[in-house]
Amino acid sequence: MLTAHLPSGYILAQVPRRTFPGLLPAALIGAVFPDLDMICFYFVDDGAFHHHRYWVHVPVFWAGVALVTLPLIRLFAHRWLNAALVFLAAIFMHLVLDSIGGDIMWRAPFDDTLMSLVKVPASQSHWILSYLLHWTFLFELAIWVIALTLWLRRGRVENRAPAEVFGKR
Ligand SMILES: [Zn+2]
Repeated sequence: MLTAHLPSGYILAQVPRRTFPGLLPAALIGAVFPDLDMICFYFVDDGAFHHHRYWVHVPVFWAGVALVTLPLIRLFAHRWLNAALVFLAAIFMHLVLDSIGGDIMWRAPFDDTLMSLVKVPASQSHWILSYLLHWTFLFELAIWVIALTLWLRRGRVENRAPAEVFGKR
């Protein structure tokens, strides 16, 4: 997925019925966090291998993180438990979205095969162009439309609230 991780995080942040400390930052940061490996990919390893092979793109790594950190947060920082759950949910959502046209090692550590739902062929001169012109990019556009719609609706609700309060006087 090229462009829609951040808006997907925004959509995820709208799912809980009630807000809680850290909800939106946890959803937004978790939704893009795995792609921070691009820094290593470009500036350390010089693109030597697929960036989805870094640990931040490996589901079993995050399953381990969840197993270790969630009980500790529940015991010692309960106030942040919901935010931690949303952060991890956003991470897994990132990995699922990357699995549509990208590749994720879902069977690691038993098998390091990169798995994807759809293979995007290298039909253009640059891989980014190949992704932009492939039908799976419509899915990214749909995520953007949903997120923007939610964001615009949220603005309307916020604008209406003072008028409603005013009207009750
Ligand atoms: Zn990614």
